[in-house]
Amino acid sequence: MRAWIAAVWALGLAPVAVSGQNAAAPDTPPPSAASSSIAATHTTGQDTVALTFDDLPGLTLLRSQAYIDHSNQMLLLGLARNHLPAIGFVNEGKLDEGHRARQIGNLKAWIKAGMDLGNHTYSHESPNTMSARAYIADIARGERVTRPLLARHHKTLTWFRYPYLETGKTLQEKEAIQTWLTDHGYRIAPVTMENSDWLFAEPYDDAIAHHQADRVRRIRAEYLAYTETMVGWYQDAGHNLLGRPMAFVMLLHVTRLNADCLDGVDAILQRHGLKPVKLEEAMKDPAYATPDPYVGPDGIEWLERWSMTLRKNQPWAGFIEPPADIEAEYKKVDNDLSDGTGPIVSRLKH
Ligand SMILES: [Zn+2]
Repeated sequence: MRAWIAAVWALGLAPVAVSGQNAAAPDTPPPSAASSSIAATHTTGQDTVALTFDDLPGLTLLRSQAYIDHSNQMLLLGLARNHLPAIGFVNEGKLDEGHRARQIGNLKAWIKAGMDLGNHTYSHESPNTMSARAYIADIARGERVTRPLLARHHKTLTWFRYPYLETGKTLQEKEAIQTWLTDHGYRIAPVTMENSDWLFAEPYDDAIAHHQADRVRRIRAEYLAYTETMVGWYQDAGHNLLGRPMAFVMLLHVTRLNADCLDGVDAILQRHGLKPVKLEEAMKDPAYATPDPYVGPDGIEWLERWSMTLRKNQPWAGFIEPPADIEAEYKKVDNDLSDGTGPIVSRLKH
C-alpha cells in the first residue's frame, strides 16, 4: 500500500482541508460554446427533474470510513441547502466493506434528512453475469437493512434501480426480474438524464488523496462544464422524443465529487429551468408509461429505450463524450489499482 493511502487513513478527514481551500471558489464551470448554445434553448421552466443517487453509502476510491461519512454529510447538507429532494439507492453489500454501524448510520442520516431510499441490489452485480434467479436473490438480499429502516420511519421500500442500467440479456430473464419486482411491491426507477459523474469521481478522490488542490479545482470545473452540456443534451433528447417538456430522472452517485459540487449542479438545473421534484412526482409524467422494448446486455437509459418504441432517432450528432483528460485520468487510476494492492473499495458505476 502506498504511503499516501496510509496518510489518508491516518489523517481521517485531512482531505476536508483541500475542500476548505476551495470553498471560496464558486462552482461555476468555464463558459463553453457547446454548453451555452444548448443552455440558451432551454429556459422555459417547464421541465422538472428528480435527483437519484446510486451506490449508497458511497462510491469512492479511498478506503476511509471518515471520507465516506463526510461525503454523505456534505451531500445531505447540500441537498438541504438547495432544497433538493432526492433518493439514495443502496448496495447493502457495501455495509460490510466499511464500518458496518457507521455505514448504516449513513443510511439513517438520509432518512432523517427526509430523503427516500431504494434498492440497488446487494452486490451491484449485473443480470448479464448471472441467472435471473441468482439476480433476484441478490435483490432480495439487498433490502434486509433498508426495508426495516424505512419502516421505522413509516416509509415503504418502493424503488429499484438496476446497476449499470442493465435489465436482462434475454426477454425471459428481463421479464422474470420485472415480474418478481412487481410481485414484491417494487417500482423500477428509470434514468432519463445522466452526466457520467462516476468517471470524474475517481480522479477527484485521487486528487484529494494526493492533496493536489489545483487538480481538485480543475476536475470540479470540468465536471460542472460537462454536466451543463449533458443536462442540455438530455433536455434536447427528451423534447425531441416527446415534443413537449418532461419530468427527468437524473442519475448521480454518492461521491465526494457530488458532495463538493452540489451547489454548482443546482445552479445548472436552475439555468436550464429544471424544477427539482421527488422521484414519485417525476414518475407521474405519462412518458414513464412508455414501453421499454430493449432486450440485451447494454446498460442504456430510458430515453433511448423509448426512442425504439416511438421510432424516433436520438440527437446523437450533438452528443459530447466526457473530456479526454478525465478519461485518461480515470484509466490511470484504474491501472494503478490493477495490482490489487491499491486503495480501491469498488469501481462500481451506475
Ligand atoms: Zn450503481
